[in-house]
Parts: sequence; C-alpha cells; structure tokens
Amino acid sequence: MGTAELKPGKLVIISGPSGAGKSTVLKRVLAECSRPLELSVSATTRRPRPGETDGVEYHFLSKDDFARRRENDEFLEWKEVFGRGDYYGTLQKTVAAGLAAGKWVVLEIDVEGAMMVLDSHPEAITIFLHPGSDEELERRLRDRGTETEDSIRRRLEVARREMACLKKYKHEVVNDTVDQAVEDICQILASGE
Ligand code: ADP
Ligand code: 5GP
Repeated sequence: MGTAELKPGKLVIISGPSGAGKSTVLKRVLAECSRPLELSVSATTRRPRPGETDGVEYHFLSKDDFARRRENDEFLEWKEVFGRGDYYGTLQKTVAAGLAAGKWVVLEIDVEGAMMVLDSHPEAITIFLHPGSDEELERRLRDRGTETEDSIRRRLEVARREMACLKKYKHEVVNDTVDQAVEDICQILASGE
C-alpha cells in the first residue's frame, strides 16, 4: 500500500487501578477489535512476574538504563507509579512509529501519565476501566497471587486516588465480566471518539 492511502493513526489511553483487569481485557480487545490496534510496550524498572517476557509485557530495564533514557528524552511520559522506586514510562519512539504506520496505538498507563499525554495529544480516546468496587479490586489483586501484602496495600491506596480521576476520561467501563468489558471497549473504538 502506498503512503498516500495510509489513514492517520490514533492514540488510545486506558487507565484503571492495578488489578482492575486491564491486561486481561486488553489482550482480548487487541485480538478481537476491528481497528488496527497496537499495544505500546512500556519500559519499567520493576522485576518481571513469572510468565512475563522482556519486550512483550514490558521492556524490563535496570534503573541506570531507565535514568539514561529519561535524560535522553526518550519518554513521552514517565512516572514512579507506586512510590517505592519502580519507574514506568512510555517510549516516544514506539508511539511515533505506530502512529506513522497508521496504527491505533494503545497506552495502558496510570492516570498521571495519561494526563501528561493528553496535554500533547488532546484528541486521544481515553478509557477508564475499573472493577466496580474496592472489595472486588482487593479480591482480584489477592487472587492474582502476584503481590506481597505490602504491595497490595499500596496498590489499594493508589487505586482510591486513581478512582477520583475517573471524570477526566471520556469513557468509563466497568469490568464486571470480561466479555462485556471487551464488547464495551470494542464499541467505543468502533465509534472512534
Ligand atoms: P491489571 O492489568 O489491571 O492490573 P489483571 O488483568 O492482571 O489487572 O487482572 C487482575 C486479576 O483479576 C487477574 O487475576 C485476572 O484474571 C482477574 N480478572 C480480570 N478481569 C476479571 C473479571 N471481569 N472478573 C473476575 N476476575 C477478573
Ligand atoms: P503493573 O506493575 O501492575 O504492571 O502496572 C502498574 C501500573 O503501572 C498500572 O496502573 C499501569 O497502568 C501503570 N503503567 C504501566 N506502564 C506505564 C507507563 O508507561 N507509564 C505510566 N505512567 N504508567 C504505566
């Protein structure tokens, strides 16, 4: 296909508390949605969980490498997400390459990162996914079995602050069942707003 036929890409931002089900739902959305979606793989200094692969869920970087890239302005946004020395960031190059190729580039990032990206890309489609209640969020974090007690407590604290930002997003999706959440997000993307 010649570049003249290439439709411009779009930016899609999805946020929500850790444990809301973003990864689970997004995996299905990426496979099932009719739009040319491409997940932007973020960089992080946190350690991989069992089953996570470098370059797939994240680019797992050392703190030094992350800092060097930050100094080189390689991030569209970056953040120390849980206030305990773990950094997360969106690589500018990944987003620019996806948009230039006509992709709908999906960012799964925290609310502060999302607000930063919205400053430079106000046209982005923004979706806030949450599980409906604090109790359900806690249950999912515990059932996932990946976090220590301390990490669960911090994630729940951050979740309360994040829920207060819901109104800043164009779309709210409650992840009650995965099927329904996938359908809701695909519908939002089909509408293109
Ligand atoms: P996040 O990416 O937002 O941190 P995950 O996708 O890892 O969340 O989901 C957290 C946990 O909740 C996982 O164990 C996942 O299997 C489970 N989960 C996700 N969506 C649902 C749902 N609709 N109902 C019940 N459990 C869910
Ligand atoms: P987890 O450690 O559970 O994979 O992710 C924790 C949190 O970090 C989630 O809320 C997720 O949205 C956020 N996150 C992941 N990647 C990025 C990123 O590149 N930038 C920002 N600001 N947050 C991110």
